[in-house]
Amino acid sequence: MVLLYFLPYFCKKFIPFRCLFSGLLFFTLISSLPNNSGLYVHIPFCRKKCIYCDFFCGGASIAKWDIFTENLIKELKSRAIEISPKLRTIYIGGGTPSLIPKNNLKLLVSAIYDTFDCSELKEFSFEVNPEDVNSENIKTWTNLGINRISMGVQSLVDKELSFLNRNHSADCAYEATRILCKSFPEVNVDIMFGIPGQTLSSLEFSISSLLSLHPTHFSAYSLMYEEGTPLTTLRDKGAFLEMDEEYNLSLYKLTSSILDDNGFEHYEISNYAQPGHRSIHNSSYWDFHPYLGVGPSAHSFDGISLRRGNFPDLKYYISNHSSLFNPPHTEESLSAEELHDEYIMLRLRTREGIDLSDFSSRFGKKKLDILISKAESFISNSQLILSQNNLSLSESGIMTSDNIILSLV
Ligand code: SF4
Repeated sequence: MVLLYFLPYFCKKFIPFRCLFSGLLFFTLISSLPNNSGLYVHIPFCRKKCIYCDFFCGGASIAKWDIFTENLIKELKSRAIEISPKLRTIYIGGGTPSLIPKNNLKLLVSAIYDTFDCSELKEFSFEVNPEDVNSENIKTWTNLGINRISMGVQSLVDKELSFLNRNHSADCAYEATRILCKSFPEVNVDIMFGIPGQTLSSLEFSISSLLSLHPTHFSAYSLMYEEGTPLTTLRDKGAFLEMDEEYNLSLYKLTSSILDDNGFEHYEISNYAQPGHRSIHNSSYWDFHPYLGVGPSAHSFDGISLRRGNFPDLKYYISNHSSLFNPPHTEESLSAEELHDEYIMLRLRTREGIDLSDFSSRFGKKKLDILISKAESFISNSQLILSQNNLSLSESGIMTSDNIILSLV
């Protein structure tokens, strides 16, 4: 849910329509595209808005599923040439993709299989909300080839869920997790810390209860106060007290330590996986692999330097009836300097950190020397770890990662 939203600042120029490729350019491009492409499809509808959410999503009541699905399909067919035809991963995220009516989902997935070569597909992720998990939907999702489910649970304490204005109860989320873990080989649950009123023991209860059901992956996020959300407005009006920073940090440490004790690898700042169960699709963002994003507000990357961001223009998707479909978007080709900074920023989010040989071959030995020299003070106070060929954040470095990354770019 989060991943396609951290890129918009890379995109500056508004380009309403891309030019059409000539036949020759088309074949040149296709033959030179890397074979590790991912497809992201954004479904921007939710039943109700969570209090903290600043994602692009609208009320399900305004969804016009038929025209929306038709336009998504038109977009993915017309833009398929931007990535290798052989897909490695598919990710349908939102919003709440599990809201999409069964027939529309079937049409969308068939169009994906018709458009791309999915013979070597490694992962097909689908985001769901607990209230949509039932035996009929599970059958549909499984039959469509979905093999990884990601579900927003956030907490298993009703008081915390109702503070967040979530649409489900703790019992509903627990039962949904139980069913999913029995039905799919890969299950991620999102949990949240820093909810006002949350305590070490209530967080431990939520995580331990989920662990008893054996999900393969956890994404853990701190509650964020984004501008313009009801959460921030209410805090500013004094309706509640934001959690003290130190206590929030202790909740984060507790999360990491429980998951570590239970065999999860902390492989990215917010992500924990059982060995062999990392998210392949999400890892491609940190590994600079190409991906195509379709749907309002979805982002794309060509694996080299070109980033594109669709405008969050839902109206375009539910009112455009033309056969030529290319939604308004921003597009930017990153300069060498921007790629350098982005590489440091994204790679340092991961457990392996920066591969120094790869860094040197991309940006040169001189840049590598500068990086190591800037990193020295953090290495000596153990916030960064320099091993033979990698520079990575330590657990204590993760807690101040923003400052460290800023100092290195
Ligand atoms: S379900 Fe997810 S996308 Fe929808 S409002 Fe809540 S946090 Fe935002």
